[in-house]
Amino acid sequence: MRDTVSVLGINVDRCTMAQAEERAWNMTENGGVIYTPNPEIIMAAYRNPGYGAILNRADMVVPDGIGVVIASKMLKKPVPERVAGYDLVCRVLKKAADEGKSVYIFGGKRGVSEQAAEKIKSDYGTKIAGFEHGYHKDTAPVVSDICEKSPDILLVCLGAPYQEKWIDANRRDLPKCLIIGAGGSVDVLAGNTKRAPEFFIKLGLEWFYRLICQPSRFIRMLDLPKFALTVFFKGQRQGGNENA
Ligand code: UDP
Repeated sequence: MRDTVSVLGINVDRCTMAQAEERAWNMTENGGVIYTPNPEIIMAAYRNPGYGAILNRADMVVPDGIGVVIASKMLKKPVPERVAGYDLVCRVLKKAADEGKSVYIFGGKRGVSEQAAEKIKSDYGTKIAGFEHGYHKDTAPVVSDICEKSPDILLVCLGAPYQEKWIDANRRDLPKCLIIGAGGSVDVLAGNTKRAPEFFIKLGLEWFYRLICQPSRFIRMLDLPKFALTVFFKGQRQGGNENA
């Protein structure tokens, strides 16, 4: 039974990083989907209930952004801590190396998924089942490749909302494994994008660091104050009153 808090209609799991890792690990055996929304993604889901429904069909939804953690506190049903998607992915990859499980990386620009695969292999020692870039017009051959390689872990790094929509549409055709909508993690794993320094992460300012490094994110980040205000006024309620 999941213990969740509804943040603008999205059921976010109230678990620690260690608990999230344990549940993720069980999904490598039993199958399961994990999404890692930040406030921008929850706002997108609030505006588009169809996307919200997709997020709510996951087996676990972890609070990737500090804004989601703060929202859960405002809603008087706090999550114990932030569970950053990238950190969860790294923990799972490390354990997979210890236990001999394999990973398939789908997403990122041409060459980036391969770079990520090489770095994962050299840094963690995880077995690579396969990799594929994320710019296919028709992804049916990718689904076939994933089925053929039968990984224990599938990282889908197509960016939101595409990756969640893709996972939801293809889930039944994919092998039983742990599937994580891992977004820009592929760029960090490949070594092309740096994670914020610990100082920013500890202060809950990773979003600010990303804004300094990528000023083009400014428009997207305008959703952060909108998110705070919407949670304040609407709380747990589902969206649907704005166009996506
Ligand atoms: N991406 C992809 N296919 C697409 C769109 C995006 O593979 O059609 C990849 C993109 O190259 C990047 C990743 O998705 O590596 C995440 O993109 P973004 O930084 O927008 O995601 P975020 O993690 O910030 O949501």
